Amino acid sequence: MSDAEALARYLNASKRAVVFTGAGISTESGIPDFRSPGGVWSKMKPIMFQDFVASPAVRREAWTRVFNKSAGWTGASPNAGHRAIAALVEQGKVSAIITQNVDNLHQDSGAPVERVIELHGNASYAKCLDCGQRHELDDLALPYERGEEIVCLHCAGLLKTATISFGQSMPEAEMTRATQESRACDLFLVLGSSLVVYPAAGLPIEAKRHGATLIIVNREPTELDQYADLVLNAEIGPLLTDTLKLLT
Ligand code: ZN
Repeated sequence: MSDAEALARYLNASKRAVVFTGAGISTESGIPDFRSPGGVWSKMKPIMFQDFVASPAVRREAWTRVFNKSAGWTGASPNAGHRAIAALVEQGKVSAIITQNVDNLHQDSGAPVERVIELHGNASYAKCLDCGQRHELDDLALPYERGEEIVCLHCAGLLKTATISFGQSMPEAEMTRATQESRACDLFLVLGSSLVVYPAAGLPIEAKRHGATLIIVNREPTELDQYADLVLNAEIGPLLTDTLKLLT
C-alpha cells in the first residue's frame, strides 16, 4: 500500500479529524524552520517578552527585524499541503487546524479563519499589549521609519507582532480550544512537527487518550512515533495531493 493509500484509508473512516501543523509544512513554502540549523534562531537571538516590554532599544530591534523581513516568512505563499488541508476543511473532514506556525499560510490558502487555532500567534499583524486592538503592519511602517515608538492608535499602549514571544504565556483561549478539539476528534493528523515543544506536543497524546487514531507525517522521526498508529516520513504537499484523490 502506498503512503497516500494508507492515509486515505484512515481519513475515509474518520468522521471528525483534526490537523496539527508545525514548521515542516511551511518549509515546503521556502520558510526556514526557526529552530533548525540555519534557521532564524541560529542567526539571531530570540527577543524575550520581558525585555521587549522593558526596553525601548529592544523594541526598536524587534521592529527592525519585522521591517527588514529577517524572519524569512514574509512574502511566502501557501503550498499544495496548505491547499489540501483547506480542501479537507471545506469537505467537512477536518474540524480544526491547530498550528504552531505564525505565517498565516493556512488562512492564505483559503481555510476559514475560525477553523485555525494558532498556538504561537500570528506574525502577519500587530496587536496592542494593553487593549488587544489589531493593527496592520503596513500602517506601522511610517512611525517605524520616523524612529518613533510604535503604539496603539486607540489607547497608546505598546504594540507587538501578534506572536507568542519567548517568555510570554501560552494563549489560554487557543489552548482550551485546541484541547477540546483534540479530545473530540477521532483522527489526529500531525503534519510537519517534530513534537518537541510543550504544551503543544501534549495534544496528540490528549487525542490518543480519548480514543483518536494518531497519524504522524514528518520528514524525520519524532518523539511520539511510538504512540502513533501510522508514521509516514514523507513530503506533505505531494502526499496530501495524492491522498485527496483517494477520498470517498
Ligand atoms: Zn490599545
